[in-house]
Amino acid sequence: VLPLFGLLMGLFSSSGTTEESPRNIIFMIGDGMGPAYTSAYRYYLHGKPQGTPKATVFDKLLVGNAWTYPDDDTWVTDSAAAATTLATGVKTFNGAVGVDANKAPLDSILKRAKRAGWRTGLVATSEIYHATPASFVAHSESRKEEFAIADDFVDAKVNGQLPVDLLLGGGRKQFTRDDRNLVAEMSAAGYTYVEELTQLSEVAQAQTVVGLFADSALPYALGSDTPLRLTHMTQAALANLGRNGAGFFLMVEGSLIDWCGHANDIACAMAEMADFAEAVKVAVAFVEQHPGTLLVVTADHSTGGLSLGRQGVYEWKPEEVKKIRARAETIARALGYAITMNKVWRQFVDFDLTLAQSFKLQAARLAALADGMILYEAVLEVLNERTRTGWTGMGHDATDVQVFATGQGADLFRGSLDNMDIGRRLMARVPEQAAPGVARAEAAEHD
Ligand SMILES: [Zn+2]
Repeated sequence: VLPLFGLLMGLFSSSGTTEESPRNIIFMIGDGMGPAYTSAYRYYLHGKPQGTPKATVFDKLLVGNAWTYPDDDTWVTDSAAAATTLATGVKTFNGAVGVDANKAPLDSILKRAKRAGWRTGLVATSEIYHATPASFVAHSESRKEEFAIADDFVDAKVNGQLPVDLLLGGGRKQFTRDDRNLVAEMSAAGYTYVEELTQLSEVAQAQTVVGLFADSALPYALGSDTPLRLTHMTQAALANLGRNGAGFFLMVEGSLIDWCGHANDIACAMAEMADFAEAVKVAVAFVEQHPGTLLVVTADHSTGGLSLGRQGVYEWKPEEVKKIRARAETIARALGYAITMNKVWRQFVDFDLTLAQSFKLQAARLAALADGMILYEAVLEVLNERTRTGWTGMGHDATDVQVFATGQGADLFRGSLDNMDIGRRLMARVPEQAAPGVARAEAAEHD
């Protein structure tokens, strides 16, 4: 059956689209993943600075970089403006979700794919209605309009159908509100609903599916029992969407890289990078097994002004990063209640505090009675000093981000691109209308 099936699929796919168009597009966004993050991840994997580090999956896929500036007077973008541009090919202002500079709703690659009869999916470790995934579906002049944005996952219909066939991420709270239960509405529309990562195996066979694995964002990778949750969601998404060869568009976001960057927490960031890198590897394997698939990976912006090395010291110590087993916030909270500080410290970190650091943390603990941030900042200072990690702030910056690509059409993403070119070129890969072969391909699956 299989060879015949393959032959049929070949016929169907060539009938509907041009030779150049990929049947599937996987678009992956490392939120906040500026160039320093991929460098850091390479050295983090290698450890102690000796010998030759290996190329990471990012090094192997690198094709160029992208400018991230928004359409306002800042140069420095937020996730909403950048994701809107990546999703639609149109620049917009910070805070905008799926609308242009005049606040008019924009067509997105996801909706275009849905119109073309492709299947569509969104996967994120944040809430699924958070700025990046939302920009592919919703329309709002403010990312803060979370209710309205979540509602668009049902209301922003394409050809009378819900826009996204597969949703995996966090955000249960907004999807099961008292005033409107979106999960109930999606279930009524035939969606399979899952709440546990252990149910991901059920996702592959579902026709349409919504998986919400946490009330808000998924737990951070660092210190988690399931640090590879994005990887597992990506596997499940590809198993589902890649099933019948009808073509699909899938966006996968490593959402929390950005949040670790905002927190200036290097161990947190590396744990998120590890999950994102594994998810990218899953996508690369899919591309290798499914010619005609395009994979593009990029970031929306860089976060925190991460630097490897700090304050004039010529070293960065990833082997020390590996000794940090919890987020700085978790450590600070535990220290706040600790009786023996060194003992509590060692529950989370595999190196001892120096005497000077102990005194500083002790003082910060007292000061934290008035301002909790003081203890947090003192913990960060110890971790960042030990690992020689620098940060210039707790926000975004305008540094270019890298672009990685493989598969059919990957060459279109080479060079130094404006991020609106990425959105435009992705959209141009999807045919304007439903390919004639699509309906037949779906029928073939049920034979
Ligand atoms: Zn951010």
